[in-house]
Amino acid sequence: MTIHTPEKTWIGLSPELSARVERTELPADLGFGTLMAPVMAIAHYADGAWQTPRLEAHEPMRIYPEVQALHYGQAIFEGMKAYRNLGDAIDGTALLFRPHDHARRFNVSAARLGMPAFPEEMFVYTLSRLVAHLDRLVPEEKGQSLYLRPFMFGATPHLSVTPSTSYTFSIVATPSDAFFTKPIKAWIERGYCRAGPGGTGAVKAAGNYAASFAAAAKLGELGFQQLLWLDARDRTKLEEFTAMNVVVRIGERLMTPALTDTILPGITRDSLVRLSASLGTPIEEVAIEIDAVLDAIRAGEDVELFGCGTGAVVAPVETLGDESGLRLDLPSQRVARLYRETLLDIQHGLAPAPDGWQVPVARTTADPAAAARTGA
Ligand SMILES: *Cc1c(COP(=O)(O)O)cnc(C)c1O
Repeated sequence: MTIHTPEKTWIGLSPELSARVERTELPADLGFGTLMAPVMAIAHYADGAWQTPRLEAHEPMRIYPEVQALHYGQAIFEGMKAYRNLGDAIDGTALLFRPHDHARRFNVSAARLGMPAFPEEMFVYTLSRLVAHLDRLVPEEKGQSLYLRPFMFGATPHLSVTPSTSYTFSIVATPSDAFFTKPIKAWIERGYCRAGPGGTGAVKAAGNYAASFAAAAKLGELGFQQLLWLDARDRTKLEEFTAMNVVVRIGERLMTPALTDTILPGITRDSLVRLSASLGTPIEEVAIEIDAVLDAIRAGEDVELFGCGTGAVVAPVETLGDESGLRLDLPSQRVARLYRETLLDIQHGLAPAPDGWQVPVARTTADPAAAARTGA
């Protein structure tokens, strides 16, 4: 098993799978994860090397019950999107948003969990091939996308508490609407913590998310949608949401918590920070006391708070609450709306962006000859 360079290897689709993609229709109500694409990418790692990824039918995976991923949580993922190219400045029918940055972060996650890196070029190439074949599942409307979920898990069937020696890498895809099209109510979590110093909070380790579920269980009946986490040491500083970073505006100041080893370095967060200077007010990366934010709202200042992440892009918060009975409405969503539109314009190719932010993918029409040539 060796790693082939993208130029030498054509990741193709069998005629049967092409036909299956051709028969797949987008549901009228996309939602999120309602329809999983009928094709996924998959590659295995063993004996110190990655196999060339292949495109296969989306179907149940066969794994042994004692794999490390299931018992010890040796599993990581990425969340990213392909958007319909709605502009005319860039070729390509779809655009991947900052895929190399996602590939690099994937490998930071891999290293933290003692897993092998997946080569960055192969990561982006595999994504591109998958999206090229799934072009008809990239929805057309602004804000919608083909959500892509690369993931990797330890697949060695052995119960010892040691890293796997074999791994599976895969990418599944699902057409999706934008999350949180309405403003959200955020719950300041004062009991549980999401991440601790020296832990895995700064990477997309699967277990981080399961660890939030007990805290999130109460949200529905309270009428809240998201947990807003505080730092584990002092429980006074804002960290982030469960899968979004947070930005706060107090008057003319825009701020996001400075990155620490308990905050996931979001690519959306980084994009907003980098765009903020040209939008008039640079986002300061600083420690933010939750009480300073609450006091400013109570004092009647012009305050807003929003989440930012791949899924939601930008999600304005309308209400903050907590277990003490606190319920505070935020007076503004002005900057959140500006950032949301600015970023979506870039993601859909309607506005220029820094290098690497808009990676075009061209639709692949069914080509049985090409597939047959490679035996794919
Ligand atoms: C994925 C994620 C984010 C957002 O990162 P993006 O790269 O912007 O999607 C923020 N916080 C956590 C905990 C995450 O898992």
